[in-house]
Amino acid sequence: MSLQPDEKRYDTMRCRRCGRSGLLLPAVSLGLWQGFGGGDDIPGMKRMLFRAFDLGITHFDLANGYGSPPPGAAEANLGKVLESDLAAYRDELVISTKAGYGMWPGPYGDWGSRKYLLASLDQSLRRLKVDYVDIYYHHRPDPETPPEETAGALASAVKQGKALYVGISSYNPRETAVMAKILREMGTPCLIHQASYSMLKRRIEKDLLAVLEEEGMGCIAFSPLSQGLLTDRYLHGIPADSRAANPSGTLDKSRITEDVMERVRALQALAEKRGQTTAQTAIAWMLRLPVMTSVLVGASKVRQLEENAAAAQNLDFSAEELADIERLFPSD
Ligand code: NDP
Repeated sequence: MSLQPDEKRYDTMRCRRCGRSGLLLPAVSLGLWQGFGGGDDIPGMKRMLFRAFDLGITHFDLANGYGSPPPGAAEANLGKVLESDLAAYRDELVISTKAGYGMWPGPYGDWGSRKYLLASLDQSLRRLKVDYVDIYYHHRPDPETPPEETAGALASAVKQGKALYVGISSYNPRETAVMAKILREMGTPCLIHQASYSMLKRRIEKDLLAVLEEEGMGCIAFSPLSQGLLTDRYLHGIPADSRAANPSGTLDKSRITEDVMERVRALQALAEKRGQTTAQTAIAWMLRLPVMTSVLVGASKVRQLEENAAAAQNLDFSAEELADIERLFPSD
């Protein structure tokens, strides 16, 4: 299977500006956390990546450990596809990776030291077989390492030409403001914050988003469908091929409660009236916020990706719809 890109690939996906930067991201981006690992098949990955590209989903998100076991498998697999099919389109792609969680044994394979972050980026570039990533993230705050050191490592990555932009993930509002200030003073503005956000997890609305607006940073939401809960996937039980059915998976069955499913059923009815699916309304609702540059979905099937990509076609919500959603999924 080889890539035959669709000439109309930029006709439908909306692009949104990332904070006060020059970078535009597709409203819907694709995460390679799951389904791109050691045990997954390359033809299946190609189908997903090629379809994403044709849908205008030009942003692929990774981290050093994705695809484990072995850690790094997702980067290595994307590297194979980049080499075989996507190399000619490198300048049309935004590839991000991260470091911040345990990656290799010993004291230098975790958290936020300069030693770890720069070594990990070199490893990622080797696996991905690229000269640079577009965005390099610190994956989580490190309570022990001075933020100046972590920020300095990110700024060095840019100065060395190994990353074009830098970002942070899962930092709280105070930590975000500190990091943004240090990076700005170093001449490497913090582009983006990757945060957990969905109808079921609204905490960032309280104060993080205001910090991002103030700092001119964009936001990209991870697990926007709450790993599948905010779709029709679990309305009639737990399908055998679902994330929740995987005993070593990351979605605990205990989260599929009757209360949540009842609210998702009501969301499904609201979505139908809008001419959307449940997943599409969950995604579109997040994009109602101008600071939400992109919504970072996962998908185990091409048709899920197609459905999710189309969410950006209707981002308008009536006051009544917003009030209904507020009642169903109140702020944390
Ligand atoms: P989602 O919330 O989008 O969950 C994806 C899962 O939901 C899919 O695997 C699929 O489940 C189900 N799904 C997706 N679309 C549909 C649909 N239209 N209909 C029915 N079911 C659907 O996101 P993820 O949790 O996968 O996270 C997305 C990305 O966010 C990751 O790949 C990663 O890049 C990033 N991330 C970052 C983190 C961080 O710390 N910075 C942490 C976690 C994620 P099924 O497999 O059952 O079909």
